Amino acid sequence: MEIRYNSTRSKSAPVKASEAILRGLSEDGGLFVPDHIPALDVPVDKLAEMDYRQTAYEVMKLFLTDFTGEELKDCIAKAYDDKFDTEEIAPVVEKDGAYYLELFHGATIAFKDMALSILPHLLTTSAKKNHVKNEIVILTATSGDTGKAALSGFADVEGTRIVVFYPKNGVSPIQEKQMITQKGKNTRVIGIHGNFDDAQTGVKKIFGDRKLAEEMDAKGFQFSSANSINIGRLVPQIVYYVYAYGQLLKAGKIKAGEKINVTVPTGNFGNILAAYYAKQMGLPIDKLICASNENKVLYDFFRTGTYDRNREFVLTSSPSMDILISSNLERLIYHIAGNDADKNRELMSALTQGGTYTITEAMKAELADFYGNYADEKETAETIRSLYEKTGYVIDTHTAVASCVYEKYRKETGDERPTVLASTASPFKFTRSVMKAIDGGYEQMEDFELVDKLSEISGVKTPKAIEEIRTAPVLHNYVCEKDEMKQAVTGFLRL
Ligand SMILES: *Cc1c(COP(=O)(O)O)cnc(C)c1O
Repeated sequence: MEIRYNSTRSKSAPVKASEAILRGLSEDGGLFVPDHIPALDVPVDKLAEMDYRQTAYEVMKLFLTDFTGEELKDCIAKAYDDKFDTEEIAPVVEKDGAYYLELFHGATIAFKDMALSILPHLLTTSAKKNHVKNEIVILTATSGDTGKAALSGFADVEGTRIVVFYPKNGVSPIQEKQMITQKGKNTRVIGIHGNFDDAQTGVKKIFGDRKLAEEMDAKGFQFSSANSINIGRLVPQIVYYVYAYGQLLKAGKIKAGEKINVTVPTGNFGNILAAYYAKQMGLPIDKLICASNENKVLYDFFRTGTYDRNREFVLTSSPSMDILISSNLERLIYHIAGNDADKNRELMSALTQGGTYTITEAMKAELADFYGNYADEKETAETIRSLYEKTGYVIDTHTAVASCVYEKYRKETGDERPTVLASTASPFKFTRSVMKAIDGGYEQMEDFELVDKLSEISGVKTPKAIEEIRTAPVLHNYVCEKDEMKQAVTGFLRL
């Protein structure tokens, strides 16, 4: 059955998947959501036999209904190839009673690669299907990982350009180095004096600028987004939950149909929303455990029903989750309001105006599948150290937040269901925080000494993504104020 995409903020005409991917955001400022969630049409016991690409096809064909089978298979083949350092693409590793779903085996060693390896192909295919002649300009705000993954996905892709904004003092040294050494004539990386929310708000403003859109169109450009507000990112993220289920089945860890829990370290709410969609498709998932760092706006929301961004923004050791406005939560709000755009718009305008909104009791009752909690900085570091001491396995700071919250959940509820933890980054991406957690004595070492030491103590070979930036020259050194972002874009495009 064909799926159309509605805006979360109005009943304006629904669009096809390819149009939703091209546009990124709806013109009324809403996000695109599927008009219904399709049911998985492979029997659960068959999942165990499918490799990553087959699983991707079975899931994505149900959402991207205006793509031909051939187009979709072609996109999948180009995305999930030897850019990944393992055949399995997203291996499941059992450690200390939990299943770590390693989503960091792609080109930039963070889970953003899972979707951003395929988005450029979905986007260029969508452009062709819709007879778009303009060059597509990808505009992205990043809290550190999206930026590099998007740059890597779009670099030198014909018919596209990409501009990435990141908080100048809000990303790890390795994250920054990864971005500012990016090659590709069509790329631009800009640090802003502000935090991630400033970058995201600035990008949304540029998207909403009609006059700019007209000027761009006259010069042969149009914007699209690589942020997780784009449905073309969300859909590929559903795949790995389905795949993980198949892997557990294959390994005999669960029986077909048995329910599992999923724990996701959460920032912008994209990754966990994908797990929610997987559950809606019929994948046997029980609880969706939402793990936050000290920016625990989501934990408070799940507890009280009030979303309140009026609080101090904390810089933590898990910077990709340092977010106070979780964009994708809007999709969940829309769904739990009964796909009610008016209700959602009302709440979102309250958020814009006063920084807070409260959902109704009926909506709150729809959140029963979710459990929220958070880990502070000390708990995060202790989780890394204790897992390492027990098992020799080293996890990154984001994954540690999830691991810690999962332990809290387990203690609180006594629920011993098999649980998949989304392992969202390689520890090599956050070496300094990770090594300091394991042994305070490592603090004196240089960044790349730490990398070598991490490889030594974990027995894991240093990923190619890290080896590459050891000596790479800096190619981008642009910095701007948060109210100068538009000029930075028009400058790059020479408008
Ligand atoms: C982006 C990111 C997250 C948060 O994912 P959301 O989809 O924004 O909730 C968590 N961990 C890492 C390493 C990330 O890069």
